[in-house]
Parts: sequence; structure tokens; C-alpha cells
Amino acid sequence: MNKYWSTIAKRAEPYVPGEQLNKNIVKLNTNENPYPPSPAVLNAIKNEINQDLRLYPTPTMDDLRQTIADEHRLQKQNVFIGNGSDEVLAFSFMAFFEPGKAIRFPAITYSFYPVYAQLFNISTEQIPLNEDFTLKTEAFFNSEGGVIFPNPNAPTSMYLPLDQVERIVQKNPNTVVIVDEAYVDFADQSAASLIQTYDNLLVIQTMSKSRSLAGLRVGFALGNEQLIQGLTRMKDSFNSYPVDRLALAGAQAAMKDTAYFQETTRKIITTRSWVSKKMGQYGFDVLPSQTNFIFASHSNVAAETIYNQLKENDVLIRYFNKKPIDNYLRITIGTDEEMNMFFEKLYPILYP
Ligand SMILES: *Cc1c(COP(=O)(O)O)cnc(C)c1O
Repeated sequence: MNKYWSTIAKRAEPYVPGEQLNKNIVKLNTNENPYPPSPAVLNAIKNEINQDLRLYPTPTMDDLRQTIADEHRLQKQNVFIGNGSDEVLAFSFMAFFEPGKAIRFPAITYSFYPVYAQLFNISTEQIPLNEDFTLKTEAFFNSEGGVIFPNPNAPTSMYLPLDQVERIVQKNPNTVVIVDEAYVDFADQSAASLIQTYDNLLVIQTMSKSRSLAGLRVGFALGNEQLIQGLTRMKDSFNSYPVDRLALAGAQAAMKDTAYFQETTRKIITTRSWVSKKMGQYGFDVLPSQTNFIFASHSNVAAETIYNQLKENDVLIRYFNKKPIDNYLRITIGTDEEMNMFFEKLYPILYP
């Protein structure tokens, strides 16, 4: 604490992201894509490195919005773009949630939600998960202030079927339901198809995971035109140009290279499937993942022990020291080679 800090600065409880170490490690801790971005992305960014960098980027981002809209069979008025989906989430909290009206989210979920709630002074009702880590759909009906949840959920990796998502949207006609689809490209179906039907649904996606662009910082929201206008009001009251010229060029190329996207996504899903099976053979209880990571608990070796010993062996995964997931590990799906390395280091920990 410092005497010059504002009340907001003092009150904030910042999000703590997974560690970024500079050593040569097997890095399976922050759900980045193990494959490089499409070559088209690197070309587009290189081409954009020119004298125009002297000029501000477009504040309305029409071209990229149109490309994203086409991908989801929407109009560009249904698309909002921000500097990573974390920024889009922050604008969403500002635009749609109200101090004094409690919002609901799962008790085990993306830990940025309580951070934003605290920052914007919004009270929360954290809804426990079922024993099997599924979401209690009905508990999200008729919220006072709105609803937010990731689908698939993080860090559990589990997907809520689209008809359940739709019920939650239907049963909150007077508040906004935000579905954070950071991992949906590794899952069954996006809720974007419901946007034409429900004016209170906001779907948020990111280029960080399935498009291999965590370093470029591009995320977007899909929703009814009025919701998009609400978000735009927040952006234009904060920073008119949150997405720079290089990011716009790279994101555009990434969205257009469907073949590359499908190939890398398919590879990750294939790796996920053999890794999950092998973890099972190693004595782990593995939740059914529809993401690019798996969430698992071992029957006789403590998660924290596994996490620490892997770290000593230069394999970094994620451990959350929080009930009721304090005996679980979150492991990002890497390349087959990285996952073989992971198992090689894991084996002597489990069978010393
Ligand atoms: C990774 C992640 C994000 C943030 O993505 P960025 O676009 O990189 O800011 C948002 N929500 C969830 C659930 C995530 O896992």
C-alpha cells in the first residue's frame, strides 16, 4: 500500500497468471497453443511493418469485424474486438453489470471474474458445481445482475451442452448472459448460433488459444447490435485504439487460414485423447476435456507434490491451491513430443 494509491488501486486484487519462465522448459501451464501461428499470419504482420505505423490504426476495425462476422454467419454490427478477450471481459463487466446487483458465476471458474467484480464493485453469487464438476444449470436462472461462465469451463475443461446454455439465456430475459468461449474451438458447438434469437447473449472468444496468437492479444465478442454498441461506448471511453496495426493484420490472416486452424486444432484434439487415456492408465481420474488442457487428480499422489516435482524437472503445469480442486492438476496439451517428455518425467514421481 502506498499513500498515493487511489481507493481502486488499494482495493484491487490482481489476477495472477501462470508463470512465464525464460528457461528451456516443457511449458504446459498457461494453455497456449503448442503450434506456431499460420505462416500467413507472420507474412501479414511483416507486410504491415511499413511507414503506416506512423498512423493510428482504425478505431472501428471494420475489416476484421467483417471477417469474424462471416465466420459466424453474423453481421459486422454483431462483432466487437479488443486487446485480448480479457479486455473484452473487462469492458463487458463495465457495460452490462451493475454495482448492487449480484452477478452469478460458477464457484470454480476462470479466476479473472472475481477480480473484475471486485474492481468494478459488483457483488457476486458463486454457484458451487455438482460433485462431478458439471454446472448446475437451474442455479443460474433468474439472476439479479447477470451471468458469466466459460464454456467449456476452466479449469475443469468440461463442456455444457448448447441446449443447457440456451436455457440459461432464456431464463435471464432481463440481464446479460456472457458465455466465455476461450476454448470452444476444441469443443462441440459455439453459442454464437443463438445470437440471432436472444438479445441478452454475449459470446466472447479469443485468438490466444486455437489460433496460436496469445502473444498478439486479440479477442472478440459476438452479440446483438445493442450489446456491441454498449461495449463500444466503454472502449471509446477508455482507449479508441486498443488493437494495433500489426495485431489487426495478423488476426485477419489467422481468421482466414481455415485449413491451418483446422489442422492444428485436430492435432491437439488427437493428442488430448491419447494423453487422457494414458493418464488414466497412470492412476489419474481425468475429467472429460473439451479444451486444449486436461484436468486430473491422482488417486494416491498429491497434486501439489506432482506439480512441485515436475517443476524441479523443468516441466511446468498448473496447480490451484483452492478447495475443492486442490488435489487436481491442469495440464496444457502440448505437441506429442512435449507430452512424451511430460510422461517421462511423471513416471518416476508416481512410481519411485
Ligand atoms: C485464456 C482465457 C481468456 C483470456 O484470453 P486472452 O484473449 O488471451 O485475454 C479468457 N477466458 C478464459 C476462460 C481463458 O482461459
